[in-house]
Amino acid sequence: MKDLFEGAQYIMDRLEEAGFQAYMVGGCIRDLLLDRKMGDIDIATSALPVEVSSLFPKTIPVGIEHGTVIVRHGAVSYEVTTFRKEGKYVDRRHPSSVEYIDSLEEDLARRDFTINAMAMDRFGTIYDPFGGRQDLQNQLIKTVGNPVKRFLEDPLRIMRALRFWSVIGFSLETQTKMACVSLSKELREIAVERLAVEFTKLLRGMDAPICLAFIFEEGFSSSLPELERYKDRADSLSSFGWTGLEKDEERWAALLFLLGASDLTGFLKAWKRSNALIREVGLLFRFLDKDVRKPVYLYELGEERAVSCLRIRNLLQGKKANEELSKLQESYRRLPIHSRKQLAVNGRDIVKSFEREKGPWIQEILGEIEKGVVEKTVQNNKEEILSWVRSWKGK
Ligand code: ATP
Ligand code: MG
Repeated sequence: MKDLFEGAQYIMDRLEEAGFQAYMVGGCIRDLLLDRKMGDIDIATSALPVEVSSLFPKTIPVGIEHGTVIVRHGAVSYEVTTFRKEGKYVDRRHPSSVEYIDSLEEDLARRDFTINAMAMDRFGTIYDPFGGRQDLQNQLIKTVGNPVKRFLEDPLRIMRALRFWSVIGFSLETQTKMACVSLSKELREIAVERLAVEFTKLLRGMDAPICLAFIFEEGFSSSLPELERYKDRADSLSSFGWTGLEKDEERWAALLFLLGASDLTGFLKAWKRSNALIREVGLLFRFLDKDVRKPVYLYELGEERAVSCLRIRNLLQGKKANEELSKLQESYRRLPIHSRKQLAVNGRDIVKSFEREKGPWIQEILGEIEKGVVEKTVQNNKEEILSWVRSWKGK
């Protein structure tokens, strides 16, 4: 945390010394005032992207068209963005142009919610033209300006309102809430990838259960991928202990399980999730109805995934997420082997001992041996394994 601040201070000092303005902005100020752990620090500046790039040795031009340059300091990345306002939203998704401006205030005015529209200079003075601090105190999520207009400009903000509700546990201010509900269909206009980023964050939040209930009750579900067809199961989402989970793949696996979704891949593809995530969720999902403490399952899953499964299973059974977790880890450590490589025999030993042509049968036998060793039916010892294998009927 200290490093994070020091880097921001260094970047702001350099920019100011070069004659530009520089402020920490957005979510980091909100989190600072709430005494919450900050994810990252964004910096807004009057310097143009080329000027930012020329001032620092390590920069990455990530979003030059939006005026953003990443400045690397130590191991930390800072998004440094030129003050801007957005042009008209022609397609209601992307501003048609980005206009650089001189003023911090206009830059703050384009931001979504008052609590996200504050800035702080390098001396710690806070700039709060839209009453963000007051709304933090009242625990309210309120758009900067007219909510209908702001949600129509970029309907993703509707989803972001729900996500901030879930994550920081604030209520939606009355007008903001009404606009959210009445414009929920606008979510259909938004790229699924952007929705999924916010939805995933929503699932991490402390108020995920009530937010999920709200999503179904108020019909947001009909404008989000896949959810609507499972609305009969919505109650199961609002009574689940989401906060006990630690990884996103656990959250998606739990979601699918609670909804009773059968086509896991189809569901996750509709949400445009990566193949890597789909694979992980698939692995966890397959074991959610099994007793993962059993040696064969532990072995197959590996320690981390077994822990993930246990956590979800515990929560599904109304237990504490981490109940019996250390016992499970201990059982994992005690497994006679942790991978096929550790078997005292290999494919060659099997071929030699059976004097048969090579073929897929070797893998099958190795699989059986692994299971035998893991379940302690046979010891992991070459002689014992080979004589055990030979004792099987008909070899
Ligand atoms: P987190 O801690 O989850 O990253 P954050 O507030 O930093 O929360 P980001 O999505 O990283 O959220 O966005 C950074 C800032 O950019 C926001 O605080 C807000 O000021 C502004 N912002 C982001 N998305 C929008 C949007 N769609 N419309 C208006 N302003 C936005
Ligand atoms: Mg952020």
